[in-house]
Amino acid sequence: MRDIAHFVNGQTLIGTSGRFGDVFNPNTGEVQARVQFATDAEIDAAVQAAAKAQIGWAATNPQRRARVMFDFKRLIERDMNTLAEILSSEHGKVIADSKGDIQRGLEVIEFACGIPHILKGEYTEGAGPGIDVYSMRQPLGVAAGITPFNFPAMIPMWMFGIAIAVGNSFILKPSEKDPTVPVKLAELMMEAGAPAGVLNVIHGDKSAVDAILTHPDIKAVSFVGSSDIAHYVYQTGTAHGKRVQAMGGAKNHGIVLPDADMAQVVKDLSGAAFGSAGERCMALPVVVPVGKKTADELRERLVAEIDTLKVGVSTDADAHYGPVVSAQHRAKIADYIRIGQEEGAELVVDGRDFHLQGYEKGFFIGPSLFDGVKKGMKTYQEEIFGPVLQIVRAESFEEALALPSEHQYGNGVAIFTRNGRAAREFASRVNVGMVGINVPIPVPVAYHTFGGWKRSAFGDTNQHGVEGVKFYTKIKTITARWPEGEVEDSAFVIPTMK
Ligand code: NAD
Repeated sequence: MRDIAHFVNGQTLIGTSGRFGDVFNPNTGEVQARVQFATDAEIDAAVQAAAKAQIGWAATNPQRRARVMFDFKRLIERDMNTLAEILSSEHGKVIADSKGDIQRGLEVIEFACGIPHILKGEYTEGAGPGIDVYSMRQPLGVAAGITPFNFPAMIPMWMFGIAIAVGNSFILKPSEKDPTVPVKLAELMMEAGAPAGVLNVIHGDKSAVDAILTHPDIKAVSFVGSSDIAHYVYQTGTAHGKRVQAMGGAKNHGIVLPDADMAQVVKDLSGAAFGSAGERCMALPVVVPVGKKTADELRERLVAEIDTLKVGVSTDADAHYGPVVSAQHRAKIADYIRIGQEEGAELVVDGRDFHLQGYEKGFFIGPSLFDGVKKGMKTYQEEIFGPVLQIVRAESFEEALALPSEHQYGNGVAIFTRNGRAAREFASRVNVGMVGINVPIPVPVAYHTFGGWKRSAFGDTNQHGVEGVKFYTKIKTITARWPEGEVEDSAFVIPTMK
């Protein structure tokens, strides 16, 4: 059995805890490797290595740090196919989707290549008599990132790409379900010229997360995962004096107004609801058609579209999506489908009986469609995170607007319409962090920022873009004068601008 070890101070660190996690191949259901879980002492060794490396790294001029990022980008492009294959074999998403996962992370690295420009401070000449005021952004020291299984390349790069470019060192604790690509990313950062200790990867479960959250030398923690754990990470990390941003779960709605281009909407919904087996925090698992005519037409077209979907192994270039990440997760999705029926929703398409010939032990589940889903239902309130699309019918624009606005989650939302005024009003009033207008998965580009509202994010700053730079730096403001001539009298009142 292959063991996946930690990566600390530029080299492999073989764990000694005797605790492991199984890493499955979701296509076959077999355990393909086991990942070592770190001890507190191993985590401390990583933090000490990171703290040591950070001093020299922060003193390296920003242009040289950017050159490492440029080289890292080139190396990822060189290894794209291999990385995508590994990613698919542990996660289950199809190869083209794994390449998208890597590419979206790479776009944050491209943003980080511009860090010399982004880090330039502000300067006011002559803010007072002979007084100049300027500000600079300085790194925090050692930062840490804790990431979910569903984007094992993109989300680590959201975090360490910015954190390292601005002069921090980084401890990454990736998901224990698909940990190989994160280790490869750290190895590639070393090959790109990052000094040993600047990026470290330690594996583990709650115990490793707790060691990070309570470690006195870690200054900031970025988390992405499910909401209850995000909330716990936020509370525990801030209680230990750290800066914390913690992104959580989602239940994104797609609002379909009667004037929408229905043929396009159905294509968009199909990809956004079932792509990556619905295991995306920006998936669209809820569709809200406005008016009975819209709902009936949409339902009919969705049933026909679902019939064309191909579920296959992650290496099948024709498959629209592959298996889900684990047997446990598959069972949880099937359970939600059962509960949905019990709650009184109409199960129009049932994906539970899907089996892929030759891969009977794989974690596959077919696409499911519910109609008649109502606000009070558990299956509407909670995140299913699987290939299940729920139709919630609304009578009016106001009712449709209220549904995502009042939902506990507020990550993303999309509206489909040809009416610019209605779209504009919706975007302005909806109580959700990221909005798509005829864009089903509105993940912002790297130089904007990513973040939801309500229980989809805890903390004040978003991921990447300028918000990411703010999260991983602290601002220092200097007020300077160079007096000459006679000694001035003491001033006992607060200095003010005359
Ligand atoms: P998860 O919450 O189970 O795990 C996330 C991380 O937390 C992992 O590194 C895991 O090892 C760690 N962890 C697990 N149990 C823990 C515990 N009890 N205490 C402390 N740490 C613990 O999430 P997941 O299943 O890996 O990922 C799916 C979830 O992530 C979904 O809810 C999805 O919506 C969310 N997600 C959110 C975003 C976003 O940006 N808002 C992006 C991607 C995924």
